[in-house]
Amino acid sequence: TSFGFKEVREDEKSRMVGNVFTSVASSYDLMNDLMSGGLHRLWKERLISKLNPFPGIKHLDVAGGTGDVAFRILENINNVGSRAMRDNRDDSIPEETQIYVCDINPHMLNVGKKRAQERGLGEDKSLIWVEGDAEALKFEDNSMDGYTIAFGIRNVTHIEKALAEANRVLKRGGRFLCLELSHVELPVLKELYDYYSFSVIPSLGELVAGDRESYQYLVESIRRFPPQDKFAKMIAEAGFQKVEYENLVGGVVAIHSGLKL
Ligand code: SAM
Repeated sequence: TSFGFKEVREDEKSRMVGNVFTSVASSYDLMNDLMSGGLHRLWKERLISKLNPFPGIKHLDVAGGTGDVAFRILENINNVGSRAMRDNRDDSIPEETQIYVCDINPHMLNVGKKRAQERGLGEDKSLIWVEGDAEALKFEDNSMDGYTIAFGIRNVTHIEKALAEANRVLKRGGRFLCLELSHVELPVLKELYDYYSFSVIPSLGELVAGDRESYQYLVESIRRFPPQDKFAKMIAEAGFQKVEYENLVGGVVAIHSGLKL
């Protein structure tokens, strides 16, 4: 590439992804906050407001890592639930909510389980932790109301397979939502962003996580990820309808969505 990075071969990619997340698991949350200046929190909130989860939802969060997205979904449902109860709007007992956190890396899941305890969600039966690959999900066809993947699909070796799997496990009417670092096109912002990602991020990685290589890999993987329109087309090709996306911060991140109809 123009920045002199070697192309990573496919077999190498899976291995790299494994190493990267094992190496960064413990410093992962701090790094997210530092790298995005805390913005990833807002981006995840936006993702969840688009999902609009409800009590009794059966939801799958893939590449769920340390549980960040799943906790927010659950907390969103609990807030809505208690508001409804207070307003006496809902006296029926809601069906049991199930939020599956699926990740290929057990170290990330372990950090997530620990965090669930710290948040008082350790005993919550709605959270279900599953080790598994986005490309071969261990869930039944037409079994989920929602599917999210946040900062995950970029790391998957065959994106098409992951999209096909998302489509397979969703029920009709189910929503696919993907939050991912994407491509900035605005000239000045693009230059700033390039400088930030190629100079600042690897140095931060070295300083905070003691691991420059993993964060260099992160920047490289953003570069290789398909641009917004192309990714939208891939989602449609996997069988989703009403595919659209929203750019946040000029495309630093994008939220793609699709419906299985
Ligand atoms: N979703 C979380 C968040 O937003 O904070 C974690 C994102 S983290 C950058 C990416 C996660 O994807 C890692 O936990 C990694 O283990 C996981 N991952 C990578 N390849 C995967 C695959 N093929 N299937 C499932 N998870 C995968």
